[in-house]
Amino acid sequence: MIPVTKPYFPSREKLNTYIDGIYERQWLTNNGELVQELTRRLENYLGVENLLLVSNGTLALQIAYRALGLRDNRAPRHPEAITTPFTFIATASSLKWEGIEPVFADIDPHTWCLDPANIEAAITPNTKAIVPVHVFGNACEVEAIDAIANKHNLKVIYDASHAFGVKYKGESLLKHGDAATLSFHATKLFHTGEGGAIIFKRKEDLERARKMINFGITGPESIEELGINAKMNELQAAMGLCVLDEMEQNLAARAEVWHRYEQALAGTLQLQSRAKALDYNYAYFPVVFKTEAKAVRVAATLKEHGVLARRYFYPSLESVECLNSQKKQAISKNIASRILCLPIYNKLGNAEQKEIIELVNTELAL
Ligand SMILES: *Cc1c(COP(=O)(O)O)cnc(C)c1O
Repeated sequence: MIPVTKPYFPSREKLNTYIDGIYERQWLTNNGELVQELTRRLENYLGVENLLLVSNGTLALQIAYRALGLRDNRAPRHPEAITTPFTFIATASSLKWEGIEPVFADIDPHTWCLDPANIEAAITPNTKAIVPVHVFGNACEVEAIDAIANKHNLKVIYDASHAFGVKYKGESLLKHGDAATLSFHATKLFHTGEGGAIIFKRKEDLERARKMINFGITGPESIEELGINAKMNELQAAMGLCVLDEMEQNLAARAEVWHRYEQALAGTLQLQSRAKALDYNYAYFPVVFKTEAKAVRVAATLKEHGVLARRYFYPSLESVECLNSQKKQAISKNIASRILCLPIYNKLGNAEQKEIIELVNTELAL
């Protein structure tokens, strides 16, 4: 069976060395040596400051909303955040979970990221923030979004779960927004098994979040903030350090797979239009078919041959009942109905990929 993605497994010997160190120090969690080392190494690798490691990408979003004060307990009405319906459920459900109403705005039909014009149209007196997603690692229109946020005094939290290592205009894409969050789930390009990070624009927000992820505790006998437990542990950090060491090989292998797909399929299928001046990370290979029937048919044929392409992101989130969204999001719904993500991971073989491409092309010719 060929899955849509496979977790990256780094050198076992190296991981053992790190685990030996954990046993020697007898230190498993609470800002240990390896968590500190991974923080430094990631800041360096990504070219960012104010990075905080946390236990997963969903809590990264939730802590970012809290640290930036999206929910003001004294405010009479429900705070709202404008976000995209074309994303993984956690972007919107994390808002709802935190008592912030996700208000969807529709995406651009080519980039699949939030369309700034639709963001502006969705602003109400209750809007506190914009939560855009750099979907599949593409850059949102960050300049236009910044301008809207400044004009209306809104916070911007980018869900950058797909954008590890992506550069925009020569600099890390993660520098945009009051905060950007990453997921280090096993299936992501860079991972720690489970894990995540927040990159804050301002140091004081980082320091507030640092307290929040450790129950609000600031000393042996002092509790300063309402907090939760969202700490990364040493075993997660050990995995991350090993995966980071092998990032170049991982990226090179994925880029090869990505370019082989592009060469074979760009002529016949719609691919994502990526922002200019983007250094991409080759994390996903989504394709859009002419009709929903065709996308479903191709997925079924691939499955018959042991290949699991996935309908990412489907369904478009305005149709998820527990999010209580009323408004139609025509473009997102349309793209979501016709999209498939094809398998991409560092060990996907040339022959396997050839078979996938042939199966897709055969279906397209019918
Ligand atoms: C993976 C992902 C998340 C959630 O991250 P976890 O680490 O699994 O909690 C959130 N948003 C997007 C867009 C994702 O792809």
